[in-house]
Amino acid sequence: MQATIQKKKFYIDGEWRGGVSYKDLISPYSGDVLAEIPMANEADVDSAIEAAYRAKRVMRNLPAHERASILERFVQKLSERADEAGEIIALEAAKPIATAKGEVARTIATYKFAAEEAKRIQGETIPFDAAAGGEGRVGYTVREPLGVIGAITPFNFPMNLVAHKVGPAIAAGNTIVLKPASQTPLSAYFIAELFEEAGLPKGALNVITGSGKTVGDRIVTDERVNMVTFTGSPAVGIGIRNKAGLKKVTLELGSNSALIVDEGVDVSEIIDRAVMGAFSYQGQVCISLQRVYVHESNYDAFVEAFVEKTKTLKYGNPLDEETDISALISGSDVERAVSWIEEAKNGGAEVATGGGSDGNVLEPTVILNAASDMKVSCQEVFAPIVLINKFHSIEEAYDLVNDSPYGLQAGIYTENVHTALEAADRLHVGGVLINDIPTFRVDNMPYGGVKESGTGREGIKYAVEEMTEMKLVVFKK
Ligand code: NAP
Repeated sequence: MQATIQKKKFYIDGEWRGGVSYKDLISPYSGDVLAEIPMANEADVDSAIEAAYRAKRVMRNLPAHERASILERFVQKLSERADEAGEIIALEAAKPIATAKGEVARTIATYKFAAEEAKRIQGETIPFDAAAGGEGRVGYTVREPLGVIGAITPFNFPMNLVAHKVGPAIAAGNTIVLKPASQTPLSAYFIAELFEEAGLPKGALNVITGSGKTVGDRIVTDERVNMVTFTGSPAVGIGIRNKAGLKKVTLELGSNSALIVDEGVDVSEIIDRAVMGAFSYQGQVCISLQRVYVHESNYDAFVEAFVEKTKTLKYGNPLDEETDISALISGSDVERAVSWIEEAKNGGAEVATGGGSDGNVLEPTVILNAASDMKVSCQEVFAPIVLINKFHSIEEAYDLVNDSPYGLQAGIYTENVHTALEAADRLHVGGVLINDIPTFRVDNMPYGGVKESGTGREGIKYAVEEMTEMKLVVFKK
């Protein structure tokens, strides 16, 4: 238990402001109180939006090289304090420290990409004389910042998913009101501190914490907010879309990502990576490997090697460098996951390993022969649970992958180039990974889903497109 519990403050208009009420932030692993977090009321949200609204002009007028310099200085500061940043993530999210440090390294890369992208936001010239009646004109397009971006982020990548909103928003000359997940506010406040030091103009970034509904509803419905960028669960995302009216909305939602292992693949080469994809951060990754479909010729070998590797994973304290698996984000998530495993067992599926829990730690669980209508298959498990099923023909495998309300990313291992190209065509997802698991992301690639996995794309260049609007300028000579 820490000796003194830090009382955090909102970051609004370049100032640190206390709240009227506070809530304890509890470690999901130890149950210790980590900090006291201010809970925003309507007036706090209003102040944050007003500050962002007032700062619009300053940010819009900031030259690209200055926006880039602010982001570069921020990158320098985060690099200097990377270890501290990793510990914050590990503590509040129960993310094993090695994975948390990996997130910090990616966050630094994301802001670097944003600094670079700030300098290449550009339009094009239009050949007006190509249209009859267009002669005697020259014209070009520019991309202008939208204004105020409302950013709502989830708990699972509390630094890098904030970076995917704050980085491109600043690169494009927007201002931001950020509402981080209630379980992971410390990462967001830490980032705000570093932006303050990096010289970001007052009001350009505002961070407020509190109930998703109170803060979220206000951000989503306020007329001064021009765009809502949300990463989180489909249920909340759909609610946001329904309330946002004509605001631009980007939704990065959940999935039950799948992998096909074709005949002829040497399974020993892919097991380590597949196990990592299924259980990294306890399966609480939007592209966690949840469903594996293996050709009947490889099935037994794959299952045996996968289960054996799974049994070597170490459970424990997220701050321990040796830990692979720590606590789920909440006790209710453990209960939900256990009840879904029970449903699968009762329906005739086989649990090959795992299934038990200790406190908030759920054992990594491998389920065989789960029917496609079981919750562990057709919903997003967001827990260390993976299904392995057999297929007989590649056609059947495509159908199994596509039989999902979601479509974020899918992977296929195959030795056959024709199958690879056909899979790229047939899988209905935002990204197809050939000879890799679906759990792959680097921060400059376009990233986002189809179906209930969302709309819009992140990856700095693509997020900048979403956060700007095109204007046409035509000169009559
Ligand atoms: P969540 O429960 O949907 O929460 C996400 C954010 O929305 C939090 O800040 C939450 O605040 C807020 N919120 C809750 N109710 C709201 C409302 N009525 N209006 C506006 N905002 C509201 O998701 P989570 O459990 O944190 O994250 C897990 C989900 O995120 C999974 O489905 C995962 O797949 C998805 N995800 C997707 C991606 C992607 O890029 N596609 C990446 C990571 C995660 P509170 O915390 O205060 O409730």
